[in-house]
Amino acid sequence: MHKRITIRNERTIVTALVLLLLSGIASIGRADDSGDGADEVEPLRILTSTNDLAAIARAVCAEQAEIEVVLRRNRDPHSVEVRPSTMRKAAGADYYLAVGLSLDLWAEDIVRGSRNRKLVMIDCSRAITPQGVPEEKVDASMGDVHPEGNPHYWLDPENGALVADFLAKVFGETRPAQADAFRENARRFGETIARRVVDWEACLRGRSFVEYHDTWLYLANRFDMRIAGRVEPLPGISPTARQLATLSGTIRSDEVRVVVRDPFHSESPVEFLERETGVRDIVIPSVCEEGRPEAYLATFDRMCAALESADSR
Ligand SMILES: [Zn+2]
Repeated sequence: MHKRITIRNERTIVTALVLLLLSGIASIGRADDSGDGADEVEPLRILTSTNDLAAIARAVCAEQAEIEVVLRRNRDPHSVEVRPSTMRKAAGADYYLAVGLSLDLWAEDIVRGSRNRKLVMIDCSRAITPQGVPEEKVDASMGDVHPEGNPHYWLDPENGALVADFLAKVFGETRPAQADAFRENARRFGETIARRVVDWEACLRGRSFVEYHDTWLYLANRFDMRIAGRVEPLPGISPTARQLATLSGTIRSDEVRVVVRDPFHSESPVEFLERETGVRDIVIPSVCEEGRPEAYLATFDRMCAALESADSR
């Protein structure tokens, strides 16, 4: 009787030891993951204006973030109809990533309307050097000109890398335990971009095209491309018949093969140019279609493929 109890006790002790050992391993594992505080394992909740910013934030955070995007696929980033569901997302977010340079002024309404006092708005244009800053004072007669410069800066892939480094720093400050991982992810993203820039450069350098809106300045400057003309005489303003006729003349004399526009731009002026000159209407979303790093990089692949095939006809 006594002996049986002893045996049972020995088993109990062994079981207890095993359990103790396992829980020890488990708690060591937890300590490693969580770093300074228990709440640090919570993913960052990020709301962004565009898919491009979501893609870059994803490259930086990997699985450490829940990321939502305001602008729907193939919509014009200059103006957005803010829905109640967007406000709900903003109410639960830690960060709002804005493009800045007056492109997404609507983002301020979202942040204000969310009544989320913890929501931190990050103006991602702080990471880059603006181009196309108007020299004269901006007024309404100049169309939709942005006084701080052209806001389509994510279309230089190297600006994508700068935004990634900037976000790694910002996120690392609130999540010190993950700061190294964010920095390393951003570095790797930058490396991928640097590698692919070699191909994009080989393909894009020296090519010319007509754009619909003042969209592709940063890409053109990065790769020494020539924007031969623009369908919109001023940003956001539709062309007159006479302006289109002048542009047709330029397309013919400069032997331009391609007009690049976004899916949300009107087809009819480009159809006119096509009829008049044989130029090709190429639709390339300048705001990428998904918040994945690869989708961001695919914009430049598309531009390459479109211009290369048009020029080799
Ligand atoms: Zn614009």
